[in-house]
Amino acid sequence: MPDLTEGVTRFRQNDFEANRRHFENLGRQQNPHTLFIGCSDSRVVPSLITQTMPGELFIVRNIANLVPMYRESGEFLATTSAIEYAVQALKVDNIIVCGHSNCGGCAALYETPENLASIPHTRHWLELAMPVKNKVLKAIGNSDPAAREWLTEQMNVAEQLCHLMTYPYIKERVKNGTMKLIGWHYIIPTGDIYQYQSETKQFELIGQQGS
Ligand SMILES: [Zn+2]
Repeated sequence: MPDLTEGVTRFRQNDFEANRRHFENLGRQQNPHTLFIGCSDSRVVPSLITQTMPGELFIVRNIANLVPMYRESGEFLATTSAIEYAVQALKVDNIIVCGHSNCGGCAALYETPENLASIPHTRHWLELAMPVKNKVLKAIGNSDPAAREWLTEQMNVAEQLCHLMTYPYIKERVKNGTMKLIGWHYIIPTGDIYQYQSETKQFELIGQQGS
């Protein structure tokens, strides 16, 4: 394992010093404009792919960037609490749900229960995306693994945007035009990000290079 304390030292000496004023201003407050819901995958780095500074994104990451349906519960609800805090307390203007290529969580939807026996909580968590599997199989069948992977990841993002609309305080703000819900599909080996278009229900590449 690399020595992470070396990274800490380098951060303190380089990036921190270069942005010292920014960090000092953030010392007692945050005012993020966007809630970013992404996969826990180590290759998805929200601040890098959006080129944002600390203080701009309030971030929730979980397996397969899932949004549980709104419900009231005495359980400990990490994702629901983070959404609630971002919208109700921090008053963010946007919510991005960001899926990605080669997502292990999306791929696991097609595994047998036996293959997931050692990760029962993960398996249960992924049930939030099960409707996506059924829609994909209905749309394109099961014969082309690459197409199935791509469509599952994109339809999963669209599905989670629908789940966000089950939160009464999000639905209200979207309806009155004070909040935007945005869906992304990030392609790790190319750096491309495709954005969901609600009118066409298709994803379109953001900022074509060279154009
Ligand atoms: Zn993932």
